[in-house]
Parts: sequence; structure tokens; C-alpha cells
Amino acid sequence: MRLRGLSLLVSLALLAPLSAHAIEFSAAELAKAKALQQRLLTLDSHLDTPANFHREGFDLRQRHDHNALSQVDLPRMQEGALDGGFFAIYTDQGDRSPAAHLHDRDAGLQRLLEIREMLAAHPDQFALALTATDAAKIKAAGKRVVYISMENASPLVADPSLLSFYHQAGLRLLSTVHFANNEFADSATDPKGAEWKGLSPAGKALVDEAVKLGIVIDQSHASDAVFDDLIQRLPVPFVLSHSSAKAIYNHPRNLDDTRLKQLAKAGGVIQVNAYGGYLIDTGKSDARKQAEDALMKQIGAGYDQLTIAQGVQLKEGLAKLDQTQPLRQATLDDFFAHLEHILSVVGPEHVGIGLDWDGGGGLSDLQDVSQLPKITAWLLRKGYSEQQIAGIWGGNLLRVMQQAQDYAEGRRTTNGRALPR
Ligand SMILES: [Zn+2]
Repeated sequence: MRLRGLSLLVSLALLAPLSAHAIEFSAAELAKAKALQQRLLTLDSHLDTPANFHREGFDLRQRHDHNALSQVDLPRMQEGALDGGFFAIYTDQGDRSPAAHLHDRDAGLQRLLEIREMLAAHPDQFALALTATDAAKIKAAGKRVVYISMENASPLVADPSLLSFYHQAGLRLLSTVHFANNEFADSATDPKGAEWKGLSPAGKALVDEAVKLGIVIDQSHASDAVFDDLIQRLPVPFVLSHSSAKAIYNHPRNLDDTRLKQLAKAGGVIQVNAYGGYLIDTGKSDARKQAEDALMKQIGAGYDQLTIAQGVQLKEGLAKLDQTQPLRQATLDDFFAHLEHILSVVGPEHVGIGLDWDGGGGLSDLQDVSQLPKITAWLLRKGYSEQQIAGIWGGNLLRVMQQAQDYAEGRRTTNGRALPR
């Protein structure tokens, strides 16, 4: 997720034409891939879709591909055979003043409420998943799977004890930090550099408490030193919910091969991302940034406040900008370069998919979740077995969740007391 500025919108706009060599799949390959996904569980570990729930005019059951704000809705989930995934409570990092921490506390609770309200409003289409085995049961009942995750733990700074409340309300995956350092951890991308040299004392206490509750820890967006702390500290495997390979594009958000191997050795999983700016150098000019700022001013609302109608305006405005000031757009070929490399380093048991939908993810030839069978078709072409593909589309991630939950359960049994559920 990247809500600062307009950079996320670029990949959501109408995109530049494909190069002559872009990968293509036949209708037969895509049909076979979709049928396979329909048999398997198909989950994405990082959906920023809850950012849309409060928007005027947004209904997750309706198709929203006419605006620049949405890549995930029920019709397109059905089309792309996406069963669901982890719906993120994302909070933009504030200035870390006491007032900002209270604001973040409330913003996190508000988003949690919006996810629960969506579930309550559409019980025939969506269901909350709490355990690793819930997803398959929900799919069998003909519904979409909603796990709850948190991206950036800043809502917990004011009162870390809220974590147990979030857990009771369904939180099962937790990242410590986002674009900038916070009280818990160093970010991979804070221009000021390291502040804690990894996890802070409060961050260590937070991840320990999360592990006790059976919540999976998510390393995406945190610095490499945080990764090293997690490898040292955690008694259970952890994941990166949306990250890619440093060996393919040297960006601080991506993971190097040594750490990829450490992650796999610890039993963890990396869910490969499709955020263009982490896959390639998009070469965005200052002039383009200014033009995007001017466009937002003209529309007259901040990104978070945009209505669906304004999202349509935005899509059209960005398409115009693409004609005069085009950006280099990441393609499926770029995404597959990362995926193939990671698969070669850690093997298919430690890889998954987390494409950053509704948070800046998407490629010129993979614009929304309706096109997911292209990824499965590629995996089939590369010779991966049905079982391996099932792992990549969610089985590996759920294995980590099962281990986290088993560990927490074991502790409860050992302690002879039950934590509230
Ligand atoms: Zn993110």
C-alpha cells in the first residue's frame, strides 16, 4: 500500500500499450488455469480493498473497473477465480506526536469496523476466516474468504494492549511498520535511515505478544535489520505478505537471496508483489509528479476522500497524462522475473502471491484480479504440479498460519489457561 502522493494511482490508470515481446497466453491455457484455481484455494495475502469500503458509491458486490480506485470486487473475483485473502487494516504513518498516535488508534479501529460491517452486510457472499482451515470450509460453502490483516502497527502505539482486542475481532496477520519508522520498528524506506537498528523494545514486546496469540508476523515494508531480529527471535515461521527479490531489482523493499534462504530455512513464505515501483525503475519525472498533484487539486479531494465518481475523473485524467508524460510500466514479464528467481532460490513451498491490489499493485497486462489465471497459466507452463500451485496460491501461507496457531495453542495448554477468543 502506498497512499502518500499519487504514485499508486499510476498503475491503476489506463496503461501504456504492451511491448511486442510481452508474454501471452492462449484462451485454452487460461481456461485450464482458471479451472485449476476453482478447484484449489486461491488467496492473495495483501488486499488493500478495505480502503474502498467507506467510499460513497462503493459496493464490493458490484463491478468497479470504470474508476481508478478499485481492482477487487465480487464480479472480478469470480472472473479471476480469487477466493479471497487477507484484507488489510492500513494506516498511513503519521508524525508520531501523541495526537497522531490517537488518530492512528482510531483510524485502525474504524477500518476494522468497516471490514466487520462489510461482512455483516453480505453474509451470503463473504465470510470471516479465523483459522488456517476456515478458508477451505468457506469456499466449500460458496463464499469468499476474508482474513483480516494489519499493515503498519501504528494503530497499536497508543495502546499496545489493543492487540488482544484485534485478535478477538479477527486479526491474523500483523506487520510492524510501513513507509517510515515508527515506535515498533525501522522501515525499509525511511529517508532518515535506521532509528532502532531493527525492532525497538516495544516492537519486540509487540511481536512476542502477537506470537502468543497465534497471529502471523509480516515482514513486508520493514528494514532488513527487522528481518534479522525476527529470524533470531521468533519461535514460529513468519511471512512477507507482499515483497519481491533484491537480486532482480535492488530496492530496499525487496529481499536479498541470503535472507530469502534464511526465511525458507525457518519455514517462512514470501508472497510475491506486483507493485510496479518495487519490480522495476519506473523513471517518474518531477514534471509528472507535479502534473499528478495538479490533477488531484482539480478533482478537489484527497485520495482517501474520493468518491467513485471522482475516481472515474481520476482514471480519465491519468490516462491523458500517460499520453504526454508516459512512465515505464511494469509488466507480467517483470513480475515473472521476480517470481521465477524467488522460486529458484527457495523452492515452491516457500512462495506465495500478494499483489498489492487496491494499494498500487497491478501491471500493464495484469490490471485487476480478473486476470489472475495468467499467473497460474505461467506456473503450469513452467511445469509446477497442481500440489505446488496449490501451495503457491495459499497452502504455504496457511501452513505458516497453522504453525503459528498450533504454537499459541500449545502455550495455552502448557500454561493451563485459555486466552479469550
Ligand atoms: Zn504495502
